[in-house]
Amino acid sequence: MDLFEYQGKQYFGRFDIPTPVGDIADTVAEAVAVADRIGYPVVLKAQVKVGGRGKAGGVKLANNVDEVREHADFILGLDIKGHIVRRLWVEEASSIAKEYYASFTLDRPNKMHLGMLSAEGGVEIEVVAEENPDAIAFLSIDPVTGLDLESARRWVAQANLDEVAREQAATLLVSLYRCYTEGDCDLAEINPLILTPDNVVKALDAKVTLDENASFRHPEWDEFRATDTIDPREIMAREKGLNYIGLDGTVGIIANGAGLAMSTLDVVNQVGGTAANFLDIGGGANADVMAAALEVINADPKVKAIFVNIFGGITRVDEVAKGVLEALNRVTINSPIVLRLDGTNAVEGRAILAEHLNDALITEPTMLDAARRAVSLANA
Ligand code: GDP
Ligand code: MN
Repeated sequence: MDLFEYQGKQYFGRFDIPTPVGDIADTVAEAVAVADRIGYPVVLKAQVKVGGRGKAGGVKLANNVDEVREHADFILGLDIKGHIVRRLWVEEASSIAKEYYASFTLDRPNKMHLGMLSAEGGVEIEVVAEENPDAIAFLSIDPVTGLDLESARRWVAQANLDEVAREQAATLLVSLYRCYTEGDCDLAEINPLILTPDNVVKALDAKVTLDENASFRHPEWDEFRATDTIDPREIMAREKGLNYIGLDGTVGIIANGAGLAMSTLDVVNQVGGTAANFLDIGGGANADVMAAALEVINADPKVKAIFVNIFGGITRVDEVAKGVLEALNRVTINSPIVLRLDGTNAVEGRAILAEHLNDALITEPTMLDAARRAVSLANA
């Protein structure tokens, strides 16, 4: 789960990572109240879970109450890369002498944590990596031994941070590492990490991704979840206990088993289609599960055809066939359904469907045939 910047800064606060003082505001009036309380100048920052807010006009300096009104009015409701701004973070403006970059993330293939530190922050790290890779100091950290202050001191020197920033930065990086590990993050990123003209180092931005696998030991994450805007299709699927991921294409996909679901996505792409989703109904899916899956996909207006790809193992194809009929009884399915049914009880399954087949309920003998048919229907 990604956090908003303000939540990331609150999370940082639990680990003593210094950030500017600020508060949230959902209206112009609230922004004014917060700014009056903090004192001027302030920075108004759009709270959306996407980067590049600065460039998009979502970060603005306000020197007085009129500017707060003007900028708050502008930023609230702004569309930043498809994310509508509903909330502002209003914080004391910082003077900036230098912008650095710091992050921790998982280096999965090496079973290590990866720290990235650069004296060239403020811009996207991908750009730095592309144009000036030597400007990034990478640190591979053994999760067993962790990051101590001595190693952090060597690291900030290696990254060429300004002398005056080094001790504070080293301490901050040890705290950020604690936040990343004890706080169960997949990513903890500060861009920019700033040095002020009076030599204070602090986090001006916060990008935190929490590792959902650890949510069982973080009941306090519920407050983050409350503001998490999940795809409504995913909420519906979760309620029905389905493993579903929404995508942008036009072919709705239902398969049993994650491997088959992924292969189905590949085949749909291969024959010129685009997948609207990933949906694995799992092993041993019965009629109820199949019906629920069809209902979820049917609720997606982008779907123009549904491809049901079942290779029965533990899952029995006759059960799947019953589920399809049940779904057709329960809801009006808006798109044609193309089925490829194979494996356990496939003959029985096809027999159940035989008398119901029509233009909107089609079976094909192979996965490739079914993909072609579904894609041509979706593109029709
Ligand atoms: P992002 O564009 O979404 O990454 O948002 P950031 O929080 O990183 O802000 C973008 C840029 O705005 C930073 O790199 C800074 O250059 C600038 N900025 C943000 N807050 C302040 C501030 O308090 N003072 C100054 N001078 N610049 C700021
Ligand atoms: Mn940033």
